[in-house]
Amino acid sequence: MMNSGIIFKIKKYAIHDGPGIRTTIFLKGCSLDCWWCHNPEGKMPKPQVMKADHSPDGKQQAVGKKMSVEEVISEIEKDIIFYDESGGGVTFSGGEPLLQAPFLLAMLKACQEKQIHTVVDTSGYAPDEVFIEICNMIDVVLFDLKLMDDEMHRRYTGVSNKKILKNLNILSKLRTPHHIRFPLIPGITDTDENVLSVAKFVRELGSVSRIDILPMHRIADGKYRRLGMQSKMANKQPPSPDEITTIKRQFEDFGFSVIIGG
Ligand code: SF4
Repeated sequence: MMNSGIIFKIKKYAIHDGPGIRTTIFLKGCSLDCWWCHNPEGKMPKPQVMKADHSPDGKQQAVGKKMSVEEVISEIEKDIIFYDESGGGVTFSGGEPLLQAPFLLAMLKACQEKQIHTVVDTSGYAPDEVFIEICNMIDVVLFDLKLMDDEMHRRYTGVSNKKILKNLNILSKLRTPHHIRFPLIPGITDTDENVLSVAKFVRELGSVSRIDILPMHRIADGKYRRLGMQSKMANKQPPSPDEITTIKRQFEDFGFSVIIGG
């Protein structure tokens, strides 16, 4: 097991990343390259620099640092009182947390020893043996499902969805509770065809009762600028409340309970 990982953010008092009040640990690195990624600073596995916020003189800030399991656990432990009172815990997000599987496993073991509730937010893009090992150690999996058409998936995320769908099938047969997270991206994921295919696929799994809709937003625009990266969504508008309600109803018609924002 690896005793250290590369973390790019630790968010305290998170309320949209699983039950209760949580600390979300963002692990750096992702194999996907989604057009709409809200955490572009989490894509590259190694630490990097970006222009500091509100810094006209071009000051730079570090993004990502190596932290040991003990260091992360001591951050997490500061908030144990909030987890206990709210039914919360720790969420591992990214980037793609499964990309740092040995570190994640060591973190999960340490959380288990301290009886801290754990959630992972994953794209599902990982070797199946790694995926199974981690899912068997976690309390809840938030599984991102974006596009059912493989060609579209390759075009908008850079990878095939075959491994992702296979892992979702595997997850449906494990005992670990899981929800689906669906990014609502106008003109890309929100077509009737895609929404219905996602709904049908997930219903057939028989293991999921809840879908969280994550509407696209523009909050990350500044981060793309500060990283010197071009956002591929620069000309896209976020979905309107009516559009979000329409997609919500489409999923509800399939019997899912749907939460906006997770
Ligand atoms: S899977 Fe998530 S972290 Fe990775 S590129 Fe896509 S949106 Fe970003």
